[in-house]
Amino acid sequence: MPLPPRRGAAGGDVVELPEGDTDPGAAAVALRCAGVRRLADAVLSHDPRRRIRIAQWLISVLVYLGSAAVLWVGSRQGWVYPASFIAWCGFLVVAQLVVYIALRSGWSEHLADPGLTAAQIVLGVVAVEWGYVICGPARSVTLLPLLLIFTFGAFSLSWRRILWLTVFALTSLIAVAAALHAARPGSGTWALDHAELRIDLTNVMMIMILLPAISLVAARLSSLRTRLRSQRTRLTAALAEVQRLATHDELTALANRRHMQERLAQEQSRFQRSGHPFSIALIDLDHFKCVNDRHGHGGGDEVLRTFAREAEATLRSGDAIARWGGEEFLLLLPDTRAPEAQASVERLLATIRVLPLDQAVPLTFSAGVTEHRPGETVTETVARADRAMYAAKRAGRNRVVRQ
Ligand code: GH3
Ligand code: MG
Ligand code: MG
Repeated sequence: MPLPPRRGAAGGDVVELPEGDTDPGAAAVALRCAGVRRLADAVLSHDPRRRIRIAQWLISVLVYLGSAAVLWVGSRQGWVYPASFIAWCGFLVVAQLVVYIALRSGWSEHLADPGLTAAQIVLGVVAVEWGYVICGPARSVTLLPLLLIFTFGAFSLSWRRILWLTVFALTSLIAVAAALHAARPGSGTWALDHAELRIDLTNVMMIMILLPAISLVAARLSSLRTRLRSQRTRLTAALAEVQRLATHDELTALANRRHMQERLAQEQSRFQRSGHPFSIALIDLDHFKCVNDRHGHGGGDEVLRTFAREAEATLRSGDAIARWGGEEFLLLLPDTRAPEAQASVERLLATIRVLPLDQAVPLTFSAGVTEHRPGETVTETVARADRAMYAAKRAGRNRVVRQ
């Protein structure tokens, strides 16, 4: 018998098992997966950007945990004071918690560096140099994570920030090494015959060579990312513009004929699938040649733009209007029978007639309205609307004829 769907411990997700699956092991795995997903959502949040930032923070937590394990061994072996180890751990737990809360709550999103990368690098430098001070003979290895820390800068920091952080890390390391030497019993001089000083000097010199090199790579990667992001933004904008140009009329900003033909084809398939009726209206402005003659071509263009604006403002939100050609427009009225469509177009005509267009004669149009019929093509519907429009012209213009 197939197992029924089960509810998770928190009463949240329902885990659907594959049909006919009788394996209790599979059920346990499915439940565990749902639990892991819920835990991941709780820790990382649902927001994809926040998830990335917290996942990066988790990597640093893992490195700190590994380093803490090494220090713990040191405290057991006697080359790290247990009190120093506990203070180091306490500082990092508090600091990392603060970083996590700032990332998880979204508070850091108000900042220029929402991933708190620079703050986390500073924290890492402090942790490494503190570790250097307390690790006695094993201190050289504590500097290795410094190189890893700076690669994080590649994800979001500018080269300027990376440079400042590098300068901070190097100067603070020199200061720490100097202070360490000064605090050693019997280290009255800075002579290089002092073995511990030689070790510190070698460490500092190695870091002074390696860290700028790593920072340089991080800065180059970061600038590459910035360039790629701005290229992607420009490409997205260009694509949107190309799409707009391909589907819209430049003069009136209405949909163009090609776009309307696609809409008509979609509406026809909807009609065939579910029987939803639709009507169309072909609108031709009356005596437009006279408008051009009187006001020039520019004036005529302005009248076309005004007509487009008014039509869009007057029509229902589901209706669509396109510039079909010259001073002709095609109106698509989904879910509308021909009589209602005629009433809509007559309302539009009444609005257009009273437009204050600074013309001797008011602007009018003639329109043919028709409903799409079963079994016919969209071209046939448009041809019937066209015939109705010419009938309106013949009947004296300034009217709507339905066929
Ligand atoms: P009716 O339709 O009432 O029979 O007369 P009409 O004068 O509007 O007819 P016709 O179709 O002969 O002329 C249409 C005019 O529209 C001619 C053309 O110069 C003008 N026209 C077409 N496209 C544009 C345009 O983009 N801008 C301007 N200003 N005029 C245009
Ligand atoms: Mg015409
Ligand atoms: Mg005309």
